[in-house]
Amino acid sequence: SKVLGGNNYKFFTNSMNTSFEERVGLEEHLHNALGNNELVMYYQPQIDPKTGLMYGAEALIRWIHPEWGVIPPDRFIPIAEETGLIIPIGEWVLRTACKQAVEWNDTYGRPFHIAVNLSIKQFVNSDIVDTVERVLQETGLDPNILELELTESVFLENTESMIITMNKLKDLGIRISIDDFGTGYSSLSYLKDLPIDSIKIDQSFIRNLSKNKKTTSIISTIISLAQKLDLKSVAEGVETLEQYNYFKSEGCDLAQGYYFSRPVPVDQIASLLDRTEWDVKQSN
Ligand code: C2E
Ligand code: CA
Ligand code: CA
Ligand code: CA
Repeated sequence: SKVLGGNNYKFFTNSMNTSFEERVGLEEHLHNALGNNELVMYYQPQIDPKTGLMYGAEALIRWIHPEWGVIPPDRFIPIAEETGLIIPIGEWVLRTACKQAVEWNDTYGRPFHIAVNLSIKQFVNSDIVDTVERVLQETGLDPNILELELTESVFLENTESMIITMNKLKDLGIRISIDDFGTGYSSLSYLKDLPIDSIKIDQSFIRNLSKNKKTTSIISTIISLAQKLDLKSVAEGVETLEQYNYFKSEGCDLAQGYYFSRPVPVDQIASLLDRTEWDVKQSN
């Protein structure tokens, strides 16, 4: 298509506004993406600062279109949500990531945790509890090492049915984390009402870490709040050694970001599994 233009995937990352025609093009193709095997899971390591070892990984979807190249999730997940395609795509994501985690756990001497993003549409529209239960049964994954990430906006809808769904998910033995923590919600009361296991401190805070003293105070407050509530804290978007050292000294439980690795295809995870020397400046 002329509108979407050539092989240049940068087209999708550079412009924030999707025109109507681009959208229709993407939507049309998205219907076939799953069937055509164009969707792929990438994985980004999460590091435990106490040991320096990889604790697990977050699964992040990629759409590799034969003509247009890599289309980032920010471009097509919203379309998948609006069209309802997120339900089959989301189930595929969950199954693929869980299968992969089983494989890593079998070949690797310690538990390898997997974090999977869940769209609010999956959470409220489909029979998410049955889906998760079925995938756990099919793959044989230990539910303890599966974490479902829900963005903070989900917790705005602090409804009865949402709390019931969350508790049912917890009853399966999985963990729940709040993604993009600190960006959306002004009241923290949901932290005491909902069965949450961890919070992921939003990247925007980390980005401003060295520039802004107030940001530093906010981050250390979030980490100690998490500790007091017995929640794990995860720093996401860690890009430098300085940032890593900061989170390590603050007692943050996990760190994730380009400093350790970008999200990578499955076969590139193996080389990172036993690495612990993150404090040594990397050559790349
Ligand atoms: P997210 O869940 O907040 O994921 C983190 C995003 O930050 C990822 O972008 C990741 O590649 C990026 N990132 C990680 N470390 C760094 C860093 O050090 N610096 C910078 N600048 N960025 C970093 P990605 O993979 O493009 O995903 C974007 C969003 O798309 C995700 O945000 C998530 O909301 C959504 N998404 C991705 N995969 C899935 C999926 O399988 N299902 C659903 N429902 N949503 C997904
Ligand atoms: Ca996430
Ligand atoms: Ca996030
Ligand atoms: Ca996000």
